[in-house]
Amino acid sequence: MLSKKAAIKRFKKRAALKGDDAQLAERLTAGDISALSKCITLVESSNKKNKEAAQAVIKKCLPHTGKSIRLGITGVPGVGKSTFIESFGTYLTQKGHRVAVLAVDPSSTLSKGSILGDKTRMNNLSVNEKAFIRPSPSSGALGGVTNATRESILLCEAAGFDVIMIETVGVGQSETEIYNMVDFFTLLMLAGAGDELQGIKRGIMEMADLVIINKADGENLKTAKYARREYQNALHLFPLKASQLQPKVQICSSTEGTNMNAVWNTLTSFATKTKESGYFDEKRKKQAVSSLHQSIRYFIDQNLKENDELAAELKKKEIEVTHCKTTAYQAAQAIVKMLLK
Ligand code: GDP
Repeated sequence: MLSKKAAIKRFKKRAALKGDDAQLAERLTAGDISALSKCITLVESSNKKNKEAAQAVIKKCLPHTGKSIRLGITGVPGVGKSTFIESFGTYLTQKGHRVAVLAVDPSSTLSKGSILGDKTRMNNLSVNEKAFIRPSPSSGALGGVTNATRESILLCEAAGFDVIMIETVGVGQSETEIYNMVDFFTLLMLAGAGDELQGIKRGIMEMADLVIINKADGENLKTAKYARREYQNALHLFPLKASQLQPKVQICSSTEGTNMNAVWNTLTSFATKTKESGYFDEKRKKQAVSSLHQSIRYFIDQNLKENDELAAELKKKEIEVTHCKTTAYQAAQAIVKMLLK
């Protein structure tokens, strides 16, 4: 005999699985975290039916989306990303904000590994009721990992989270994707280690709206202050960003929680200025369009894989191209013609 609590739980689970979209969307927009988790699971699913159910929920949620500030956070492993998110997230919840943390892990496609896989890395935030932490989706998500993250952002917003942090490992693969889904991009660095040592490419520095020099505590504080000046000078040499705002450099200690207010002030000042200039909205519109294009490319790729006839023809064309029997251009034209039939 099931207890009443277990029966309700089972009912909710079944309702969700049956794709009771309206109910799920209603619960989600009322701030129900279990509904949010469930929806993100559907978004990340490799099952077509679940994916369709997720799309129906997202569509219902769309009027409630867009009101957060979306913040991208990157940096090499060990720089202190999760410690920073724990500290900054806690600071924000104390200010009354609701904070969602999502992760994108470029390595998950290869190793099935996952950053944020271990939620205990953020001990306080993971039990904070004003926070929601979600590890990176596995590589099997229909529509791709980045699309799943993009959709998860929308769901978090609909559930009332007003600051969304998206974490990624700064190894040069996923930053552009993250950049294309956030309003504000933050790069965490360490003082005293050369850029090469930190594995950060110039292109990533150029994307940053804010460089944070972490671990500015104890004996490190002095070098951090020095590094701050150095980075500020270096960033001045880069071309002016599309936002027309000069990127900032800040120091902080994530373990001690210092300078979190400075980070927040930079973020809010950036949001205010870019909303005034129109850049904020413009960027979001461009991101939505780019997401559409990415989805189209994904569907074409899927079709090529799933349709046996097409897959066989593609294989044939691959061989022809490698043996110089045809040009890539012509082979592609033939494949697309088949695709559109
Ligand atoms: P991630 O791989 O970028 O997520 O890095 P972690 O947040 O896991 O941090 C890596 C290590 O650096 C851990 O041992 C942290 O305790 C330490 N750490 C992180 N932030 C700071 C900081 O501000 N000051 C000091 N002294 N150590 C820190």
